[in-house]
Amino acid sequence: MRHQPADPLLAIIECVSSPCIGRLAPSPTGLLHLGHAATFFTAFARAREHNGTLLLRNEDLDPQRSRPEFVSAMLEDLAWLGIAWQPPMLSQSTRLPAYRAALERLLTGGHIYPCTCTRRDLAQSLHAPHDDDEPIYNGHCRPTHPTSQTLTAANYRFRVPNGETIRFFDHNLGPQSFTAGMAHGSDFGDFLIWRRPPTSEPADIALLRDEHGVRLAKRHDALAIRTLRTAGLTPADVLARLTAAR
Ligand SMILES: [Zn+2]
Repeated sequence: MRHQPADPLLAIIECVSSPCIGRLAPSPTGLLHLGHAATFFTAFARAREHNGTLLLRNEDLDPQRSRPEFVSAMLEDLAWLGIAWQPPMLSQSTRLPAYRAALERLLTGGHIYPCTCTRRDLAQSLHAPHDDDEPIYNGHCRPTHPTSQTLTAANYRFRVPNGETIRFFDHNLGPQSFTAGMAHGSDFGDFLIWRRPPTSEPADIALLRDEHGVRLAKRHDALAIRTLRTAGLTPADVLARLTAAR
């Protein structure tokens, strides 16, 4: 979505229903940094505020870049920050049969379709937006009518309700509305929900930027949590730094 944080999946907070459930969803492709800490502190506070549950999902679906040592480092850093979550940690790589079953249900219902567009195709799309937002898909592979097909080794996109406006209330930002579809001015289009293996998953993207405007998730480890810890900062120092950066 254009007007939302670049990676809403890094931490998901569902407090519209009871009980409130928050999810931390880091990828073990590097060390946690300040961007992660900002998102995770928020999710932790929201879950605690609503007497809810905070879960940890290890997004390790990228076999090329996911490393066990980053999982260990992630757990260690979360513990150091004082962010408690309810075990067990779910690793996505162990959940593929469940994901595939869900994908087949969506396909049977005509809610998704295979997309053969390459990254270059998408980059050249007329609907590619500015800066770092995910390009709005131009509908090249979208069937005119929803069709049920057999699952193939392809990427799959979710068919959003074209032209429909989605409204909800955001705890921090207030009432929000986003228009779905491929038309100019839409906020989000048909999005990828399945990448055929072993194409890589998108890298985790943080909300914070450094003093040069570079997203922290795109930086090296200078602001990794363990670097700050080694430098003698406390979790309270990290929280204060995040508050000052907002
Ligand atoms: Zn396509």
